[in-house]
Amino acid sequence: MELKKSNPEWITDNFKNEVAGKVVEGIDLNYKKQKKSKKITKNLNIDELYKGLIEGNRTILSKVITIIESNSPKYKVITDELIKKIHPLTGNSIRIGITGPPGVGKSTFIESLGTFLVENNQKVAVLAVDPSSTVTKGSILGDKTRMENLSRNDNAYIRPSPSGGTLGGVAKRTKEAILACEAAGYNIILIETIGVGQSEITVRSLVDIFILLLLPGSGDELQGIKKGVVELADILVINKCDGEYKLKANQTKSAYQSAIKLLQSPTEGWKPKVLTMSALEQLGIKEVWSTVNEFIINTKNSGYFEYRRKRQLVEWLNTLIFDYIQNKYLENKNFKLAKEQIEQDLLLSKISPNEAIDKLINILGI
Ligand code: GDP
Repeated sequence: MELKKSNPEWITDNFKNEVAGKVVEGIDLNYKKQKKSKKITKNLNIDELYKGLIEGNRTILSKVITIIESNSPKYKVITDELIKKIHPLTGNSIRIGITGPPGVGKSTFIESLGTFLVENNQKVAVLAVDPSSTVTKGSILGDKTRMENLSRNDNAYIRPSPSGGTLGGVAKRTKEAILACEAAGYNIILIETIGVGQSEITVRSLVDIFILLLLPGSGDELQGIKKGVVELADILVINKCDGEYKLKANQTKSAYQSAIKLLQSPTEGWKPKVLTMSALEQLGIKEVWSTVNEFIINTKNSGYFEYRRKRQLVEWLNTLIFDYIQNKYLENKNFKLAKEQIEQDLLLSKISPNEAIDKLINILGI
């Protein structure tokens, strides 16, 4: 049967004969569209994602974390459903925060520690929280070719840092990514961040233990870390204790041992420990790990481990509440318009801040 052919409708008369492509009658032009939209839905089928996750499929885990990191409301619904579904399967890992200034050797340490752990039959996931990506959309932790050996190991999963978003958003995504990794069977989760700001407090609220890496050389400012970060650490490790740095590393260890005596421990019943290591030469890695174990056993025995997890759950609830309210604001067009007007009135001293907030709350109806 001869099918009727005609020029596409976008062709003007002068180019009628110069286009090889013809429209053929009887062909459904929406075919491709339908197929694509079906594919998207298929990709986001919650049951399939769930099944893939619990089978430990790394491609699915990556897809799930991408969904978690997405800002789209459609993906948020999927994330929420999935997190509800996997929640009973989560919580069985040790969550470890690792921080330190850029260049201290975090990647090298995670590569060494991670390799040691997978060789000892552990499943290790590495997540990164990078405040630089929030500010600059660049990524200090993600740009480098990092942890090459570890990333090739079947029992390791490494996720580069997400970019963009508020710190609160980062906390939510990181927490959900931890849960996804746990559901996928990873029993040690390493969460890396750089020791230069607020992100440490965020990460501290997501982990069981917090490790601070330091350079040989004393003084927090000299180290390039913010004051206060030391107070969050359960273990301080002076890295690069090798070659010409060895003496300095040991002096730094003594200096921090004295300094932390004056600080309050972030974990009840545990005195922070100061160690030295060479991540590059893989010296002292096992000692760091046995100190982590000592900490876990100690806090589990005292009940503080469970207490901290429970407290983190409540903090998590608060994060979700704020996240929900914030999204409600952002989605409400009337609110946005009214806010601009109210801001103007405020700047022109037509209303007081208290009147402004009353008006806004009225608009939201909360
Ligand atoms: P990060 O920015 O904290 O992730 O640091 P990297 O792991 O990328 O390390 C920064 C630099 O320090 C690299 O050139 C590493 O080879 C080097 N480095 C890391 N650990 C050690 C160590 O234990 N000893 C020495 N001498 N160099 C190290």
